[in-house]
Amino acid sequence: MAQDIAHAAKTSYEKCAEFTKNLWWSWHPEVGQIFQMINPERWRELAHNPIALLREYDPQKFEERVLELAMHTRIDVAYRRYMQYVSTRPLWSRQNAGVLGSRPVAYFSLEFGLHESVPIYSGGLGVLAGDHVKSASGLGVPLVAVGLFYQTGYFKQQINEEGAQVEIYQKTNVADLPYEECLDKDGKPLIVSVETTTGTIYAKVGLVSVGRVPLYLLNTDLEQNSEEDRALTDKLYGGDQRKRIRQELLCGVGGLRALKAMGINPGVFHLNEGHNSFVALEAIREEMAHCGVSYETAAQNVAQKTVFTTHTPVEAGHDYFPRELVEENVKPLYEAVGMTLDSFMALGSNPSFASDKFCMTVLGLKLSRYANGVSALHGVVSRRMWRALWPNKTEEETPIGHITNGVHVPTWMAWQMKVLFERTMPGWTEESIDPQVWSEVYDVDSGELWETHVALKKLLVDVAGRRYARQLQRFNADQEAIDRAKRLLSPDFLTIGFARRFATYKRAYLLVQDEERFDKIVNNPERPVQFVFAGKAHPKDDPGKEFIKRITSIQRNPRFANRVLFLEDYDVNLARYLVQGVDVWLNNPLRPLEASGTSGQKAVLNGALNFSILDGWWNEAYDGTNGFAIGDGTSHVDMNITNERDNKSLLDTLENEVVPTFYERNEHGLPIRWIHMMKNSIATLAWRFSAHRMVADYVNNAYLPAAGGVSSKMP
Ligand SMILES: *Cc1c(COP(=O)(O)O)cnc(C)c1O
Repeated sequence: MAQDIAHAAKTSYEKCAEFTKNLWWSWHPEVGQIFQMINPERWRELAHNPIALLREYDPQKFEERVLELAMHTRIDVAYRRYMQYVSTRPLWSRQNAGVLGSRPVAYFSLEFGLHESVPIYSGGLGVLAGDHVKSASGLGVPLVAVGLFYQTGYFKQQINEEGAQVEIYQKTNVADLPYEECLDKDGKPLIVSVETTTGTIYAKVGLVSVGRVPLYLLNTDLEQNSEEDRALTDKLYGGDQRKRIRQELLCGVGGLRALKAMGINPGVFHLNEGHNSFVALEAIREEMAHCGVSYETAAQNVAQKTVFTTHTPVEAGHDYFPRELVEENVKPLYEAVGMTLDSFMALGSNPSFASDKFCMTVLGLKLSRYANGVSALHGVVSRRMWRALWPNKTEEETPIGHITNGVHVPTWMAWQMKVLFERTMPGWTEESIDPQVWSEVYDVDSGELWETHVALKKLLVDVAGRRYARQLQRFNADQEAIDRAKRLLSPDFLTIGFARRFATYKRAYLLVQDEERFDKIVNNPERPVQFVFAGKAHPKDDPGKEFIKRITSIQRNPRFANRVLFLEDYDVNLARYLVQGVDVWLNNPLRPLEASGTSGQKAVLNGALNFSILDGWWNEAYDGTNGFAIGDGTSHVDMNITNERDNKSLLDTLENEVVPTFYERNEHGLPIRWIHMMKNSIATLAWRFSAHRMVADYVNNAYLPAAGGVSSKMP
C-alpha cells in the first residue's frame, strides 16, 4: 500500500527516468514504444536512447506530451512491471541456483553487446556476453559482470563512394548512458589500481544495471594516469599489443579488485575467452596473501571455481604476447605469486607452437577446472587444438567440453511475433525453454504466421531503403536516384540476409564466386532473389575490407543492381531488423572455423529459415526439415577446392530447393511447404538455442560444480 502511494506521487517523467536507468527496458519493446511515440524522429536519431531523449524534455513539457498521447497508464504499467522485476527472484533460481546465492558468479568479458545505445561491443562475442547477462537476469542466477568502459566504443562504419569501409569514432556521452559511478566506503569515487613495471594503472568503476545483474565497467580516463594509460579504455580493439595486454591486465586484475573493494566475494569465476585469464592469477595471488597457502594449493583452489570458455578455432583470435611485454606488464603479479619470468612464460606456452610467446588461452585452460567450447563441434575442434597441454590424455579425454551458445529470446524476437505467440500458443512465454511449449507453434494458423512474417519483411524493406537513401544523400546523388534507392528491395521477392563481421573465414564472397550462375539465379524473372549484406571488418583486417569492396562492387554492377544491397554500420539495431525481416539467413563459413555463430539463432525466433554450412551450432541443429544445409560437413585440405565445392552446393541448393519451395504457393497464395519448415525450425530450435537454455547449462554443468554445490542434472 505505502509503496503504491509512493508510486502514485511520482510523475511520468520521474518514472521513466527511473526505469531507463536499467537496461531492462531494452528487451521490453512495449517500453521502447513509449519513447518512440513521444518523438519518433528524435528516437531514431538518438539511436533509441531513452535517457538522451528524456534529457531533451523539460519535465513539465514531457508531462504535457504524455497527457496529449494519453500514455499515463502505459507508463504506469511499465513502471510497475519494472519494480516487480527487480524486486523479485525468479522461481528457477530458487530451485536451481540456490548454493550460488551469497557468493555470485563473476563473469568477465572485454566486450558486452547489450543495446545500440551502449557501444561497448564489436560483434558476436560481445553480443553473446550481453545475452548471457540478460538471461542470467531472467533466470535470477546470482551473477555480476565485469568489463571495460570504452569512451569511444567501437567504430561506426560508412561506405564511401568507392564502396570501401570508412571507420568513424565518436566519443560516447556518458551522461546519456545508464551508467553510475561506483563509490567506495567513504562515499568517494571508487578507484582501483594495477601495478606494472612502467607505472601503476588507475581506473574508476561504473555500474550499468542489466535487469537484476550489475555490470561493472572500468574506465581509465583519470588525471592520475599517464596520458597513455588514460587512453587505455578509449576504444575497443584500437591499439597495439602493448595496449592490449594492459587492457587485459586492467580488466582481469583491476576488475577483481573492484569487486573485492565493493564487498563482492565471487564463488565462481567465468572467464569469457582468454582475454580475461589474468583474473585467475590475481585470485591466486589473493588466496596466497590472505590464507598463507602455497602457490600449488592456491592454484588448485582457484581452478576449482574457475570456468573458462574458448570462443574460436581461428588462430588470430587467441592472444599471444612477447616476453618483453609480459615482463613489463605482469612482473609485479607473477612475482607476487613467487614466479620468475621463465616459469611464468612456461605457464603460458603453447606446446604445439614453436614460439616463446605467452598465450592467454593456455593460461586460462591451465588455471581453470571447467573449460568449454561453444558448440559440440567446437568442443571436438578445441580438444584437438589444445590436447598437447595434456600429454597424458587422449584427444577424447582432453578436459574441454562444450556448451552450445544461445540467444536472448526477448531481445531478438520481434514484438509482432511475441504478440502472435502469446495469443495463439497457450503455454508460451518468452522465457520458456520447454520443447513441448514451443511445439505449440504447429497449432498457429499458417496464414497468420505468414502475415506476421511479411509485415516484418516490409519493415526491413523500408529500413533498408531509408538507410541506403541516406548513404546516397551523402554522395550528393540526385533525387531520382535517392527515390529509387528507397524502393530498391521488394517485399515480394525471396530475401536472403548475410550479416556478421567480415572476417575472412566467413567467406562473404562465396555466393558470388560464380557470377554467371549467380546472375541466372537471382535474375530469374519469375522467381527473383534479393540479398542484403551488412557487416564491419576489423580496422586492421585488410582482406576483410577487400571482401566488403567485392560485395559493394557487385552491388554497383548494373546486372545485380536490384539484387544485392550492402547496408552500412551493422550493429544490434540493424541486426534486429535483418534477423526479423529476411526469409532466409545465410551463413557460409569455412568449416570448422565458425565456433558457434549466433545470428542464425536470432533468425529462427522470427521464422526465418537457416541456410548454412554444417558448422558451429548448425551442425547440431539441422535435421533435414528445419532449414537448409550447404555441403555435407566436410572440408578439403585445399581451401580452393573447398570453396569451389561449397559454392556449387550453395547455388545448387538455392536453385533446386530454397527458391522453388519459397515460390510454391497454394490457392490462397500461401507457401504452405515453406511455412511448415518455419514451424519445424521454431519448434525444434528456438528453445534449444536460447540463452536461457545456455545459462541453465552453465549453471548445472559448470557453475554449481565449480561452487562446490551439487547440480540438479548431473548424476
Ligand atoms: C548476433 C550478432 C553477431 C554475431 O553474428 P554471427 O553470425 O554469430 O557471426 C555479430 N554482430 C551483431 C551486431 C550481432 O547482433
